[in-house]
Amino acid sequence: PASAKKDFIRQIVREDLASGKHSAIRTRFPPEPNGYLHIGHAKAICLNFGVATEFGGLCNLRFDDTNPAKEDPEFVRAIEDDVRWLGFDWASLRHASDYFGVYYLAAQKLVRDGKAFVCDLSAEEVRQYRGSLTEPGRNSPYRERSVEENLDLFARMRAGEFADGARTLRAKIDMASGNINLRDPALYRIKHVEHQNTGAEWPIYPMYDFAHALGDAVEGITHSLCTLEFEDHRPLYDWCVDNVDLAGNPDLLEPLLAKGLPKEAAKPRQIEFSRLNINYTVMSKRKLTQLVGEGLVDGWDDPRMYTLQGLRRRGYTPASLRLLVDRVGISKQNSVIDFSVLEGCLREDLDATASRRMAVVDPLKLVLANLAEGHEESLTFPNHPKDESQGERQVPFSRELWIEREDFAEVPPKGWKRLVPGGEVRLRGAGIVRIDEVLKDEAGNITELRGWLDPESRPGMEGANRKVKGTIHWVSAKHAVAAEIRLYDRLFSVEKPDDESDGKTYRDHLNPDSKRTVQGWVEPAAALAAVEQSFQFERTGYFVADRYDHTAERPVFNRSVTLRDTWSA
Ligand code: ATP
Ligand code: MG
Ligand code: MG
Repeated sequence: PASAKKDFIRQIVREDLASGKHSAIRTRFPPEPNGYLHIGHAKAICLNFGVATEFGGLCNLRFDDTNPAKEDPEFVRAIEDDVRWLGFDWASLRHASDYFGVYYLAAQKLVRDGKAFVCDLSAEEVRQYRGSLTEPGRNSPYRERSVEENLDLFARMRAGEFADGARTLRAKIDMASGNINLRDPALYRIKHVEHQNTGAEWPIYPMYDFAHALGDAVEGITHSLCTLEFEDHRPLYDWCVDNVDLAGNPDLLEPLLAKGLPKEAAKPRQIEFSRLNINYTVMSKRKLTQLVGEGLVDGWDDPRMYTLQGLRRRGYTPASLRLLVDRVGISKQNSVIDFSVLEGCLREDLDATASRRMAVVDPLKLVLANLAEGHEESLTFPNHPKDESQGERQVPFSRELWIEREDFAEVPPKGWKRLVPGGEVRLRGAGIVRIDEVLKDEAGNITELRGWLDPESRPGMEGANRKVKGTIHWVSAKHAVAAEIRLYDRLFSVEKPDDESDGKTYRDHLNPDSKRTVQGWVEPAAALAAVEQSFQFERTGYFVADRYDHTAERPVFNRSVTLRDTWSA
């Protein structure tokens, strides 16, 4: 079923299918395996895989591994894991390095056609010749080499005869172009570095624009969706696709057969959309890498990180991130999304899906003095107030409870609805309690409350309907399980941690209260959570059982998000 979404990219896809320009569409998500994916990548993933799915097409996962020095198999595994976790699967898993043979033949064709040449200028000289936005560039003195000489030199580059940086293969386009990307850009550079997939086979590596455009063509990508910063590269993208013309030169695809890949090719169209930006975050791989490397967070999957691994560990659900991407929409307008939108998406998902539990984060003992010593019973609670299909659970209740310290005030502020000396409150699902006695230690700290549970107010009784102002949560002290509760908040305390105009860097804007670990008590049914299971701890927030550290004996919960937006800068 075609998508109901109306953004401009889906509109183009819809028209291309309706007009018969394409009978089926193909997209790809092309990460460079040089870091972990972040929340911005979720937008590109949801868009590429989403469009393919909605219009009955296919989407590939392609590792853009043309830069061997920076890439690592650890990142490859994490990226695959992240894409699957978000709920998508690829039609075919590819690597730009699968196409190195094709790229080489394509480059030779450009040389034969007089559209590429071997240049001996150093990197610094190339910069000087390139000109600027206001100055046209100058032709390289090597630009008019004969086809024969170029073919020979390029073959010797490939054979490993020359040192790193000694020569490049450059496209012959236009040194006076207003678009600097078209000023005879490099297509290949010499780099004697081993590659994780091709080993020592290649001493030369293709440049990003060339490899990316041809990679799309090789895979028969119809709509190549990328972020706005590539808009200026589109003329070069088209130049590569048109001048190599893989579809019209199937002999260039021959190296694919040795890889067991199909010899297909198409003319792809690049379409740019705006990046996802969210305030209070940093979202570049470089900065995320520094946060980890400098020990400012506890690793790539620290629950405060805006990597997908971090968000997952924090308790963000795939559905909440897909909702975010939908809510933000696809356009060419650059904008910054407020952090509360991200949190709102998580609340919306978890409010509907997460079972309710009771947990006490900052415990204060409450003894129900009118119950017999050793009194205990089991109360039945629904798991979700609006979703009966989630069933019920048993919650142990007894004479001694833990309640939240902040639910009692000796001197209540105005409008207070919770416990005060002599006042009444409803204990969720257990009846109405009145506080008779406040016990303190020598320093004057409250150590215990003693109360009276109205026997006529138990659930199901007439007296239970009596009006009292507040309802509080509790756990039975005898039955509750001690839990480590990690109270996370935003990693940065300012809207634009990236803004360095005042001489500060994002390191200066770390929120000192972004992580607080406390020891609390949870009801037994919470301790039994599976890892990564999310709950609403009533009145407290949404929490997830930590993916790595949680066990039923030693529960560990991460606060994913508070119940309401309480941020104040
Ligand atoms: P970064 O610049 O954040 O370090 P990148 O763009 O270098 O990341 P790639 O691995 O090259 O990371 O990105 C893969 C794809 O994800 C690209 O198509 C890129 O345009 C897209 N992408 C990256 N960041 C965002 C973002 N913030 N919003 C939307 N798409 C993004
Ligand atoms: Mg990149
Ligand atoms: Mg980038």
